[in-house]
This record gives sequence, C-alpha cells and structure tokens, in this order.
Amino acid sequence: SPQELHDRIDQLIRDVEDFPKPGIVFKDISPLLADHDGFTAVVNGLAAAALDEAGEPRVDKVLGIEARGFILAAPVALRLRTGFVPVRKAGKLPGPTHAVSYALEYGEATLEMHQDAIEPGDKVLVVDDVLATGGTVNATKELVEACGGEVIAVAVLMDLSFLPGREALGETPLHSLYTI
Ligand code: AMP
Repeated sequence: SPQELHDRIDQLIRDVEDFPKPGIVFKDISPLLADHDGFTAVVNGLAAAALDEAGEPRVDKVLGIEARGFILAAPVALRLRTGFVPVRKAGKLPGPTHAVSYALEYGEATLEMHQDAIEPGDKVLVVDDVLATGGTVNATKELVEACGGEVIAVAVLMDLSFLPGREALGETPLHSLYTI
C-alpha cells in the first residue's frame, strides 16, 4: 500500500546535514538502493505513474536525469516495457543534442538530451530521486518538447513540499512516493 511504501522509504532514506553545502539537508537514497525489497517497491511505485486503469503502460519512453535519476529510471523503463533515455549534464552526450539552461540558487546549470532520443508524439515519463525547486524537471520537460514529445507524468521518490517544485510543474501530474 502507499502507506507501507511511505514507511519503508522513511526507514531507508538517510538525511545528511550540510551536504553538499551548509544549510542543505541532503536526502541520501543509498540505503534504499542497497535494500532489495525497498528498491523493488520503489521501482514498482514509480512505474505505477505510467500505467493505465487496465495496468498497461501508457508511455513510449522513460527519461532519467543524471545521476541518481538513472538508477531509478532504468528499471522503471524495463518494468514498463519501454526504452530508457538519459538526460545529462552539459558536455557528456556524444551526439547532436538539445540543451536547456536553468537558474540554480547560485549560477546556472545546463541539461542535454540527444535530439533523436524522442520522436514527435512520444509520450514520456520523467523519473528522478528528489523534486526540490522543480528547475531540473522543468528543464527536462523543455527538452522533451523540443523533440515534439509530451511529458505525461513526473515520478519522483520524494518531493520537498517547502519548495515550489509541485507548482513549478504546472499541469503535468506529479507522482511522488514520499512528501516531506
Ligand atoms: P530542483 O531542480 O531544485 O528540483 O532539484 C532537483 C535535483 O537536485 C534532483 O536531481 C535531485 O537529485 C537534487 N536535489 C535537490 N535537493 C536535494 C536534496 N535535498 N537531497 C538530494 N538531492 C537533491
């Protein structure tokens, strides 16, 4: 049940204070990934964001955001019988890419995706570990739209409700397994 999954995540996420910088409480998912039952439950919970009422997958691709998003998104893609697409930090992908820059608290970040990774009309599920301000996921939505695809849902292990991530997503449904 969602409550059991919530409690399991609660036990298997480690708070690391002042990482990577003072004032940030980093949500470390390593203990959860190391736990077979916990990892399995989370993958199934994330995949549920892209199943229809009959339990059939309703996406053409699953996108994972570097780096922890990769770990979660790849098994979700297999579970949904779709392919996996990496969204990477600038300069990592070899082929022609679309790039989107977005503001961070200090400075700027750029995400890239291969131009041929998504076909026009593709329905896409975006997966990441933590939704904070929503900047990362919104940049990813722009990358999908640049290819003519559509993000039908965003699935995250955890969202931080004291930050405006949920609002930043606009109309795109958020499927979060754990809200703080
Ligand atoms: P944002 O763009 O602000 O929504 O930040 C989300 C991205 O930063 C995700 O890829 C997360 O992995 C990472 N992130 C942000 N805040 C945290 C946090 N408190 N703990 C762990 N990861 C975080």
